[in-house]
Amino acid sequence: MRMFVSDFDGTITEKDVANLILDKYAYPQWLEIEKEYKARKIGTREAINREFALVKASREELTSFVDEVASLDPHFKRFLGFLGDNGEKLEIVSEGLDFYIRFLLKKWGLDLPLRTNRTSFKGRMMNIAYPYRDPRCSLCGTCKMGRVLELRGKGYEVVYFGNGYSDICPALEADKVFAKGQLAVLCEEEDREFMPFNDFGDVVREVRTWR
Ligand SMILES: [Mg+2]
Repeated sequence: MRMFVSDFDGTITEKDVANLILDKYAYPQWLEIEKEYKARKIGTREAINREFALVKASREELTSFVDEVASLDPHFKRFLGFLGDNGEKLEIVSEGLDFYIRFLLKKWGLDLPLRTNRTSFKGRMMNIAYPYRDPRCSLCGTCKMGRVLELRGKGYEVVYFGNGYSDICPALEADKVFAKGQLAVLCEEEDREFMPFNDFGDVVREVRTWR
């Protein structure tokens, strides 16, 4: 039994959608918070809370912006079809926000299990809740590693895809890792073996050799 688990922003999408929102609506203050995050002085939960508190926009405004700027990896659907032919599945674990992820999945006709942070809007302010946090850990919003461990506990071989800082914990616990961007750098630092990829076309080529 094999399960594919993937990050969303910058992994399934070509660009990080949360960062596009912050660049447009919270620039340049959010970059100061991001520096603290990248230096690992603060966790994702604190970074998300403080960064998105800078965004003053309604759900409608943000959704129409996301609709304009977000794009799907051109080979992702082909990869899902390839998995489906073998009766295998993929689920998403994300440190993004549910309102734009659900909007995009629907727009792109993708029906995939999703664990992410929950947004509620009050006019032009948003409040973020973390239903998938690990209460014993103050760092992440959605504990991606927790899901990987849970699946492994059920006997799955877990293949993980990611591109960012919040992907290193799950990558260390997964059976196989596809990494790009910052995650590839972190895997090298941690001596974690991984397969580099640019898009899901590369993934299809690799996974095909496992059959
Ligand atoms: Mg990402």
